[in-house]
Amino acid sequence: MSSNVINVAIDGPAGAGKSTVSRAAAKELGFIYVDTGALYRAVGVNALRKGIDTKDKPAVAETLSGISVDLVFENGEQKVLLNGEDVSVEIRTPPASMAASDVSAVPEVRAFLFDLQRDIAKRNNCIMDGRDIGTVVLPDAKVKIFLTADPEERAMRRFKELQEKGSTVTYKEVLDDLLVRDYNDSHREIAPLKPAEDSVVINTTGITFEESVNKIIETVKEKM
Ligand code: C5P
Repeated sequence: MSSNVINVAIDGPAGAGKSTVSRAAAKELGFIYVDTGALYRAVGVNALRKGIDTKDKPAVAETLSGISVDLVFENGEQKVLLNGEDVSVEIRTPPASMAASDVSAVPEVRAFLFDLQRDIAKRNNCIMDGRDIGTVVLPDAKVKIFLTADPEERAMRRFKELQEKGSTVTYKEVLDDLLVRDYNDSHREIAPLKPAEDSVVINTTGITFEESVNKIIETVKEKM
């Protein structure tokens, strides 16, 4: 990997605030922010559209032939394209979240999305967030952060976000959903969610959004 670019890998469980905190920190640092979850979500949406069971690994692997998934950046904002169509909104629904978690356990899906993530990181100063960025995708990243928070706090944040969007989902449903995804993500055979050995762990339970952003910026500046 080129040493001219600075790559910051941020991993952690669903709802830890990775995307909002990473986006704000990237803006402050003048880096692009890459949300890799969007890629798994796009593959999940594609599988849902085809009406296949997202837990059926061979069937999911088959959906990859002939599809294209891309990330484009406009004014620093990431958009995810599925076969050229902007699916940035559709990927955010609860069924898309669960489909993403299912398809992410399929080795062919991870291999399919690997080069895309590496290429972006090679060419840009970036904060890239996901589950396996520090461990698998960018093992040489200059900075690795594992961002986490207690499940109840993560569920409450997600619940509030969904409520603001007019969703009628209950807190209990959000918490249950999150616990299932935590379990799936950290127990899958391939690229399970875990802190990289050389990562800095930041727990955002009980701290404000600004404090979380500042902690990330401080960590990046220390390592630079
Ligand atoms: O981060 P987000 O919640 O959008 O990710 C959706 C799903 O995609 C996660 O539950 C996880 O299963 C999967 N994912 C992954 N590896 C990444 C990013 C996301 O397996 N680097």
